[in-house]
Amino acid sequence: MKILISNDDGFQAPGIVALYEAISGIDGVQVEVVAPEQNNSAKSNALTLHAPLYVHRASNGFRYVNGTPADCVHIAMTGLLGYRPDLVLAGINNGANMGDDTVYSGTVGAAMEGYLFGVPAIAFSQVEFGWKHLDAAAQKARDIVQQMRQQQLVGSTPWLLNVNIPNLPLEQLGAIKLCRLGRRHAAEPVITQVSPRGQTMYWIGSAGAVKDDAEGTDFHATAHGHVAITPLKIDLTDHQNLGYWAQTASRLQAGLQAAAHADRTQEQA
Ligand code: MN
Repeated sequence: MKILISNDDGFQAPGIVALYEAISGIDGVQVEVVAPEQNNSAKSNALTLHAPLYVHRASNGFRYVNGTPADCVHIAMTGLLGYRPDLVLAGINNGANMGDDTVYSGTVGAAMEGYLFGVPAIAFSQVEFGWKHLDAAAQKARDIVQQMRQQQLVGSTPWLLNVNIPNLPLEQLGAIKLCRLGRRHAAEPVITQVSPRGQTMYWIGSAGAVKDDAEGTDFHATAHGHVAITPLKIDLTDHQNLGYWAQTASRLQAGLQAAAHADRTQEQA
């Protein structure tokens, strides 16, 4: 099994080193790392279209790119590796990627890029910042991948999983729990400061507080010590409200037509 690993915290982050060491210990796997040179957290699925990308190899064999997480997976999949990986892993991220975070997450973005190319992919994140019990998270990631391999879940059907692991010792980590994404309130206000040269600087504020952490959400599961697994998809269509929007779009079109007719009548007058 050929596995591509990337992340968004950068190729030197403890999380990707731990993930690489854990995964490359699985029998019969071949692992390569292609990861951003710098921290690219919250870069989502961004691709670099207006600047060249360069790939370098670090002394530990990891390849690093002056681009985003999605850039790394994209160029790995489309030419750099020279083969198609069977599985793309991202992480282990420094901090949770739950609820609305998934929209911004570069960790999820890296995994999603693999999924977009039709390859099964998993984004791994530790819930708290600071890498506490990273060894346990890496061991859990390894166990999950090994089980998937044994149960032949990694095949030609692509899927995308978002996994959040509480910062707990291995023996205290609860069972894996299938979850939906929770929700957060809107983000905290921007923070403004004055630079030494007298200009106003804006710093993006923190993520919003948790709004929906009901049972069944990733927030709930990890708060109770479980490893939260959420299957993700890319279709952003609001399927539930397609009926409402069909009627609304008709009314909009009728209004547009009436307005255009009124304009023409006025021009002719
Ligand atoms: Mn990150």
